[in-house]
Amino acid sequence: MSAHAGDLAPALDAVRAAMRAVAAVGDPATFGPGGQVEKGGAGPLTIADLASQVAAVLSLQRDLGAEIRILAEESASELEAHAGDDLLPPVCAAVCAAGFACDPATVRRCLRSEHDHGGAGCFWAIDPLDGTKGFLRGGQFAIAIALVSGARPVLAALGMPRLGERGHGLGAGVIAAAAHGQGAWQSPAHAWEPRAIRAHAWRPGAPIRLAGSVETRHSAGDALESAASAVSTVEPVRVDSQVKYGLVARGDADAYLRHSPTAGYAECVWDHAAGALVATEAGCTVTDIHGRPLDFATGHRLTANAGVLCAAPGLHAPLLSALAASMR
Ligand code: AMP
Ligand code: MG
Repeated sequence: MSAHAGDLAPALDAVRAAMRAVAAVGDPATFGPGGQVEKGGAGPLTIADLASQVAAVLSLQRDLGAEIRILAEESASELEAHAGDDLLPPVCAAVCAAGFACDPATVRRCLRSEHDHGGAGCFWAIDPLDGTKGFLRGGQFAIAIALVSGARPVLAALGMPRLGERGHGLGAGVIAAAAHGQGAWQSPAHAWEPRAIRAHAWRPGAPIRLAGSVETRHSAGDALESAASAVSTVEPVRVDSQVKYGLVARGDADAYLRHSPTAGYAECVWDHAAGALVATEAGCTVTDIHGRPLDFATGHRLTANAGVLCAAPGLHAPLLSALAASMR
């Protein structure tokens, strides 16, 4: 399926709805004990993650119909196991503030159920709050929504509420978007005024501005930076969430490398679908660390891949060779 820029409206509506819900939740520094829980070893779950997902799902369903397939991160079973009903009242309040009718039954309906598998065919992948640890720390986070069709993302909207229009510092918020074969764009978050974005072509000898995770448990940053230093001087850019893809896509970083230190870890579909399309449409090459295309038709996780190598023009091949040499 090819996609047209005009098809982006439902994804953009959903990202904006989710951003309103996250804003309505307020500053995470003010969350009381009822504002977040630990999802076992899977990191924190906050009222902002839940409110964002509910708002995004309700927006997509309003625009496209209740029968669309959705693979979203936050699941009913995890809420049940770790939080029960305690988080629901503030979630409903934030979703209502974002412009939707919402009660606890609505929240449960918008959570992932055992039946939502992703896989083959066409589905919406939603990461309602990618980089929750960054969100809580005052760092970057993203709201990532992509339509996946035939094993690859074809439409993407990536809300980056704390990113400025340039550089990788804090700012007033931007939204990046992409449509397969059509290009990638960025706009200030407050009004849709898109301008095309392109990755910055890397020239041999130039330093490599290398984006990677802040969280050392998510990616073996030191080892990846050391491998990349065989190509050129590495300038690390440690940033949370799919903002890393956005930075490479708009020329504020040269590459994004990721490989989990957890043996056998397969990346989640919703952690990459939107960001990978934005970067690809801006001229980057996105593969796993072995150079294989990312296969988004394998369920919740990218089980046919290991890690991610997203690089600006001119840099993918040298980084791939350096990674292969470092693994020998
Ligand atoms: P980042 O902000 O780039 O560090 O990535 C955040 C994402 O890391 C979250 O959305 C999680 O799905 C993912 N994550 C959680 N645990 C791990 C792990 N052990 N290895 C790799 N990624 C992980
Ligand atoms: Mg995530």
